Amino acid sequence: MQLANQVAVVTGGARGIGREIALRLAREGADVALFDVQPPLLEQAAAELRALGRRAEGIVVDVTDGTQVDDGMAKVLDKLGRIDILINNAGVTKDGLLIRMDDAQWDRVLNINLRGTFLCTRAAARQMLKQRRGRIVSIASIVGLIGNPGQANYAASKAGIIGFTKAVAKELAGRGITCNAIAPGFIQTEMTDALPEQARQRLMDAIPMGALGEPKDVAEAALFLVSDAARYITGHVLVVDGGLAM
Ligand code: NAP
Repeated sequence: MQLANQVAVVTGGARGIGREIALRLAREGADVALFDVQPPLLEQAAAELRALGRRAEGIVVDVTDGTQVDDGMAKVLDKLGRIDILINNAGVTKDGLLIRMDDAQWDRVLNINLRGTFLCTRAAARQMLKQRRGRIVSIASIVGLIGNPGQANYAASKAGIIGFTKAVAKELAGRGITCNAIAPGFIQTEMTDALPEQARQRLMDAIPMGALGEPKDVAEAALFLVSDAARYITGHVLVVDGGLAM
């Protein structure tokens, strides 16, 4: 129980990688608040966390809305009492080739992935500064490191998260708060289920380990970065990709 008596906030925690991270942290003793925009899935995921014996709150928060984010964090403090861990996981893709990409496609991906990470980090950091301790982990992507055709918006948002992580890590390092990022490769979730079969096969051929990752591979990396074992690691980007980006 490495995380007993700690409280984690996981954005986009109703399904996929976020849900898996929430479950992993809860199994180590953390109480968890989930921020998401899907009320039925949110309640289902919160119930799974409670079944592990933890306190859990599913809170409807659109991470692009500063008021909803601030109100959501206030609810976490009211119900769970503190904020020790923030996992910025909410993210979307809206793919298209650059010359056909419209403004709305660009804005939506940048707003959810990057602005959402900024708003949640700012709100959580205010509380972590009071506690003089905190762990912030943002889910970037190898696409933010190496690019991908058809994903200029997504690549920019994820590269933005990496720069943001390093700046925040430097600002908060002296206050007992670490800030790191995880850059997953291709992980089996609804996001990658949408890939056409041919694209999936091409991907498999390019991954040295010959398989997509699973949400639990990212969850284990997140657990490490929020644990005491990683107390001297900040501003780092941990790649979890079966060797794809090397
Ligand atoms: P997912 O299954 O689509 O889950 C993302 C969750 O975030 C969904 O429940 C989604 O709700 C929610 N969300 C979307 N917009 C939101 C908003 N404005 N406010 C709050 N919540 C919102 O995605 P995933 O595959 O688990 O990915 C999780 C993270 O890992 C993302 O940041 C993604 O970019 C990153 N990642 C994934 C992969 C991969 O291969 N899967 C690889 C690298 C990085 P809706 O269902 O309404 O959209």
